[in-house]
Amino acid sequence: AKEAGKGQYASYEPELDERANYDAQLGAELRLAMDRGDFRLLFQPVVRLPDGAPVGAEALIRWHHPQRGVIPPDEFIPAAERTGLIVPLGAWVLNEACRTAAGWLNDDHATNPWTVSVNISARQLREAGFSRRVSAALSAAGLPAERLMIEVTETAVFDSHAAANALREISALGVAIALDDFGTGHSSLGLLRKIPVNVLKVDKSFIDNITGSTAEATIATAMVSLANGLDLGVVAEGVESAAQARQLHLIGYRLSQGFHFARPLPAEEVRDLLVAETKR
Ligand code: C2E
Ligand code: CA
Ligand code: CA
Ligand code: CA
Repeated sequence: AKEAGKGQYASYEPELDERANYDAQLGAELRLAMDRGDFRLLFQPVVRLPDGAPVGAEALIRWHHPQRGVIPPDEFIPAAERTGLIVPLGAWVLNEACRTAAGWLNDDHATNPWTVSVNISARQLREAGFSRRVSAALSAAGLPAERLMIEVTETAVFDSHAAANALREISALGVAIALDDFGTGHSSLGLLRKIPVNVLKVDKSFIDNITGSTAEATIATAMVSLANGLDLGVVAEGVESAAQARQLHLIGYRLSQGFHFARPLPAEEVRDLLVAETKR
């Protein structure tokens, strides 16, 4: 009877049950990790085409687990979003990124307008008072709003008045807004009229096949034309080869990000790139 009961239980939404357990456990671990200070930010340069000169950097979180080593965000951000822990964790990311960038600015006696980008989850964006959190992070760090860019996905903004309002408030502060993974979410070009957007980040899945006569190449070309027409910046994500970089430049891309140019790097290394660049 016990066996049968188990079997029945297992066939009754086993995934949901496992996920709840998984989230509860991971949630507890994430809380501990936040208290211990086990999170770090890496920064991946965003570069100009064709020369690869850095023009900014995207903050990417890593979890330095005492037993399991470095854990990438794909393995804990989804659970942090489901448990709501992304709100305090995301606030830490925002503050840490602003503080780090303010340090770079302090070392930088030139005036190149580099920016630091921070990924923001739907949950954070829809939380009441999010724009106040952003302006508080800027003032606490002493970072001018123009140096910050936030990255949100189409899906995070789709169908949410709260998110759209938060973006308007953030934009009014002078912070730039990028649509991340562009083309993969609840894509609606109408969204571009409803929310303030400064930059489109074209998803890696469109860049992978850019050198062939593929549907992706056609779409990536249309996206650069869309961005130019709307007077938006456009960044090609996930550029892994010189051939891709050449092709992107050829079809009009002026900004890119990817392992071909640089992997996510520790803050000190990115500071050297940005500051050295601006002193040239
Ligand atoms: P994303 O925002 O699309 O960030 C780009 C991801 O692509 C990063 O992975 C980066 O390391 C990777 N990448 C960059 N260039 C290349 C390339 O040429 N080839 C390949 N194969 N990958 C490349 P990462 O750091 O593992 O982050 C994964 C995702 O986790 C991010 O995707 C973002 O959605 C999320 N994430 C990272 N940090 C944060 C954070 O602080 N807050 C939130 N809410 N999400 C974050
Ligand atoms: Ca991003
Ligand atoms: Ca992306
Ligand atoms: Ca992504």
